[in-house]
Amino acid sequence: MIVIMKEGAPKDAIEEVKKIVKEAGYTPHDLSGEMKTVIAAVGDGRDKSRLESMESLAYVERVVPILKPYKLCSREVKKEDTIITVGNVAIGGKHIVVMAGPCSVEGEEQIVSIARDVKAAGAEILRGGAFKPRTSPYSFQGMEKEGLELLKKAREATGLPIVTEVMNPRELDLVCEYADILQIGARNMQNFSLLKLVGQVKKPVLLKRGLASTVQEFLMSAEYILSEGNREVMLCERGIRTFETATRNTLDLSCIPVLKELTHLPIITDPSHGTGYWQFVSSMSKASVAAGTDGLMIEVHNRPEMAFSDGAQSLKPKKFAQLMKELRPVAEAVGRTI
Ligand code: PEP
Ligand code: MN
Repeated sequence: MIVIMKEGAPKDAIEEVKKIVKEAGYTPHDLSGEMKTVIAAVGDGRDKSRLESMESLAYVERVVPILKPYKLCSREVKKEDTIITVGNVAIGGKHIVVMAGPCSVEGEEQIVSIARDVKAAGAEILRGGAFKPRTSPYSFQGMEKEGLELLKKAREATGLPIVTEVMNPRELDLVCEYADILQIGARNMQNFSLLKLVGQVKKPVLLKRGLASTVQEFLMSAEYILSEGNREVMLCERGIRTFETATRNTLDLSCIPVLKELTHLPIITDPSHGTGYWQFVSSMSKASVAAGTDGLMIEVHNRPEMAFSDGAQSLKPKKFAQLMKELRPVAEAVGRTI
């Protein structure tokens, strides 16, 4: 339920509403905008009539139900786009933000040199995995803490904020010491205990869509994070599993406008994992921008043939720089900058 207060409602009237919401077994979330005080009462649907009866309170304008199963991330609750600020970068506004870097951090020279290259080409956030979710336990698992230290060096060298994956609640505190944005990988999209914990930290989260998740399941996972208090969540489409084998995954471009309609959260597209081959990354990046994405996550490696992971889908820095140039007129055509 959403409780909309009358303009000029005093503090104690707002507190009274919050108290009733809690007594009814719901959690109050303050969603006040510039003009109005709005309180979302989020819970399991019990004792709804108690909430509805608040319409009779002097300072309550209206009590309206939230029809979607996800609440705090829905457009019903918040009409305006959420803008997440990381350093000097605003994600979710008119400007499209590019996050680029290798799949895995592999060494100092590798990460610092790639960071310099992607920055020079116009990327605004550096990506790089230190904890890697690999299909095989025998594949490279990431440099872990040492990888985080190297990401920090790359940030010091370039000023680029860092997005890196946290795989496990055990490593959350450690990753938080280094990351500017916490990445939740596709395989962990429904790791609800991890989602609840990242919901309790004060750091933006990039939530990747599960390998075989529907849009609704994706939004319900975001809701886990928001419901714990962290409203800074961006949703990353990274391809879903279909019957097609010509690409590693099927990049679901249509989910971009669908998500834009359903949620106020920023949408990021990852055409690297979405296709699995560097040859297709450029066209799918342009298509994503045309479809309304707020950001791109692109894997870049200086020696893709030697990469410890995902070399086949990584662009060389020169190709990445070329792509950035080609993206500018596409962004302009849809009223955006990049
Ligand atoms: C990655 O970003 O390198 C990664 C492992 O992504 P995903 O979780 O989407 O597979
Ligand atoms: Mn990867």
